[in-house]
Amino acid sequence: MKRILIILTAAVLIASCGTQKKVAKLEKTAETMSQILPGIKIPKASASQILNDVTYLASDELEGRDTGSEGILTAAKYLQNRLHEIGLQPYRDDFFDNFQAQGEKAFNIVGMLPGTDGVLKNEVVVIGAHYDHIGFMKAVAGDSIANGANDNATGTASVLAIAESLKAIDFNRRTVVFALFSAEEKGLIGSKHLAKRMKAEKENVVAMINFEMTGTPMVESEYIAYLTGYDKSNMGAVFNKANPSRLVTGKLEAAAEMNLFMRSDNFPFYEEFEIPAQTFCTFDFTNFDHYHQPGDEVSQIDSRHMAAVVDAIMPGIMKVVNDERLKVMGNE
Ligand SMILES: [Zn+2]
Repeated sequence: MKRILIILTAAVLIASCGTQKKVAKLEKTAETMSQILPGIKIPKASASQILNDVTYLASDELEGRDTGSEGILTAAKYLQNRLHEIGLQPYRDDFFDNFQAQGEKAFNIVGMLPGTDGVLKNEVVVIGAHYDHIGFMKAVAGDSIANGANDNATGTASVLAIAESLKAIDFNRRTVVFALFSAEEKGLIGSKHLAKRMKAEKENVVAMINFEMTGTPMVESEYIAYLTGYDKSNMGAVFNKANPSRLVTGKLEAAAEMNLFMRSDNFPFYEEFEIPAQTFCTFDFTNFDHYHQPGDEVSQIDSRHMAAVVDAIMPGIMKVVNDERLKVMGNE
C-alpha cells in the first residue's frame, strides 16, 4: 500500500510541477521510469502553430526550398529563429551545420536540449526531418513552384512541435538533438553529413526518429502512422506500449516493399551508428496525389491530423529519451 501511495504522490507532483528537479528528487525514491513517466503531463500539440509553420515553409515566397536557392536560406533562418524561440540551444554553438551538396552551399539546422541526468545525458537521441524540397519544375496549370507542403514541411513542423513539448516538460534524461536536414532530395546528403560529423565528434547516438509526410491521414488504418523498417528494432512496440489510449504505429507492407527504410534521413544514422533509426510517415501511396508536384500545397494539409500524430507519438518519445535504450533486432 505504501508503495502505491508513493507512486500516486509522484504522479501528482510531476503533473503539477513538471520540473526536472522535482522528478530528480522523486527518482531517489527508487521508482522506475515505467512508473514515473505515465504521471508526467504532456502538453497537447498546437494544430494552429503546426499550420503556421507548414504555411510559411510551403509559401511561394520560399520557391520550393531547393538546396542552394535563396528560398532555402530564408527557410533556414526561419527555422533557426523557431528553434531559438522554443528555447533550444544551438548544437555545438551553431544552429547552422554547414556542408556542400553537389557544389552548392547547404546547411542543416540543428538544436539541442541537454540531458537532465548526469549519466544518461551522454546518450543522444536525434529527432529529425528534412526541410528542403525540389524548387521549380515544369508548370502544371501555370504553377511551376513545387511547394513541398507535405514533403516535408509537415515533418519539419512535427519536429518543431515535439521540441516545443519536450522543452515545456523539461524532463529528458538523455540529450535530444533536433535536426532539420537539407539536401535530402539530392540523396540524403544533409543527414549523411550530420551522421558522419556526430560519429567523428564521438557523440553516443542511441536512437534516431525521423518524420516524413505526415500531412494526410492514412486510409482505413488501425494505427495513426506507419514506421519504416518496422522489424529492425523494438521502436514500434515501445511506442505502442507507451500510449495506452490508441494504437500508434505498425508496419505498412507497401512501404516495406519500396524499402522506404533506406530512402530517408533515418538511414545514414542506422549506417553510422547501427542503432534503431526509423521514420514515421502517414503517406500510404493512396491518400495524397501531389507527390513531387506543384500541387503539394498547404491547402492539402490536415493540421489537426498532424497534431494528433504528434500527440500519439509523444509518450513513446518520452520513453526513448528517458527509459531503457531501444534495441536493434535481427534483419529477417
Ligand atoms: Zn521527403
